[in-house]
Amino acid sequence: MAPKVERFVSPGKGNGLRATAGIRPGELVHSADPLAACVSLKRARSACHHCFSRHEALLRCSQCKMARYCNITCQKQAWPVHKSECKCLRSILPRIPTDSVRLAARIIFALCASPKGNSEELYTLEEHESHLSSLSEQKKEGLSQLASMLQLYLQQEIPSLEQAWSSLPPSCQDPLSLMGKVTCNCFTVSDGELQEIGVGLYPSLSLLNHDCGPNCVMVFEGTKLQLRAVKEIKLGDELTVSYIDSLELTEDRQKQLEEQYHFTCTCQRCNSRDKDVLTVSGEEATWRPLKDALSRLDGLKAESNWQELVDVCRNLLSEAGDNVPDENLYKLKVIDAALDACIQLELWEEALAFGLRTLPVYSTYFADPHPVHGVQLMRVGKLQHYLEHISDAFDTFKQAFEILKVTHGDTHHLTSELRMKMEECRCELNQ
Ligand SMILES: [Zn+2]
Ligand SMILES: [Zn+2]
Ligand SMILES: [Zn+2]
Repeated sequence: MAPKVERFVSPGKGNGLRATAGIRPGELVHSADPLAACVSLKRARSACHHCFSRHEALLRCSQCKMARYCNITCQKQAWPVHKSECKCLRSILPRIPTDSVRLAARIIFALCASPKGNSEELYTLEEHESHLSSLSEQKKEGLSQLASMLQLYLQQEIPSLEQAWSSLPPSCQDPLSLMGKVTCNCFTVSDGELQEIGVGLYPSLSLLNHDCGPNCVMVFEGTKLQLRAVKEIKLGDELTVSYIDSLELTEDRQKQLEEQYHFTCTCQRCNSRDKDVLTVSGEEATWRPLKDALSRLDGLKAESNWQELVDVCRNLLSEAGDNVPDENLYKLKVIDAALDACIQLELWEEALAFGLRTLPVYSTYFADPHPVHGVQLMRVGKLQHYLEHISDAFDTFKQAFEILKVTHGDTHHLTSELRMKMEECRCELNQ
């Protein structure tokens, strides 16, 4: 563990992490490999189950036909972790357990393979909260279904793990408590462009508490988690990250945090209800249809039904017209969905028009440096570059770089890609 962080008890919050030295924005605070991680079902066919890179064509495990890899090297390296999992997967085919169940099983395999674990971790799985006592009946029911699934899934392998299994701490042997720990402590593993790839458990970093305006961000390189400071941090300051999408109304963020993580957020942003007025700007009657359509848009996106998605968005936006300001959160989400669809349909001019509309709004919402804003600038810059608006593209890439060098760091592959794009623009402008 880097000497810049230590475990402490945060007043009113329980366990936390704090800085043992001053930390500057952009500094790498900590980097960690997961105890266990697995690719999400929705990415199971498009991302390597070992290194988490996305590819069009992947090799398939000939036994379970579920795991997929970039090449033989990834497959070989994955085998020690996949061996037990492969048997379990085959035993319940054609069913495939949910992400959290597959992750919990991988955690058990990892613990059984090395029962003493990593002694550098600041927080053991045994200490992780499961929040079983504070769950609603409905949540408990959901969790116990996951726990039964886990038992069924592991049935084949438990006998061969017997000795290692019985030496695990009691709270990790109990499927219900293990599923509780996994669901409230796992992180979404995303690629540099912040698209979800999988889920993982990073024990020391489960100590990080939430703040809606955090001083650190988590960015992944493969499955390695990199925690970077985005604000000036003083010795003794608590380190925080945001567990959720910070672009929601205060009451919606608080509801989500209570339901999913079992606490009431009292951060500065929540107390001041910062940006709430902006979020719902315009008459409710005019923006309500946009808000109500969001779940349908998500559905179309999940089905990759891009043509219908763009048609629905165009209609919604033309009906809302100028009555709803662009700053309205629900309008912003519709414009973003339209941008995604246009990119997929290769409607570049229209995609750029949508992308450009979002930029001033992103700048008002995200206190920079924010990874979401940096990635959006990069997307728009790529569209400008493709459409040969070279000097605009160069300008947008420069703005993106100012953000990504802090949030992703100088060595992240996305920052390198961005540097190359800037170089291309510079050459093209000189010609
Ligand atoms: Zn790979
Ligand atoms: Zn397999
Ligand atoms: Zn908050």
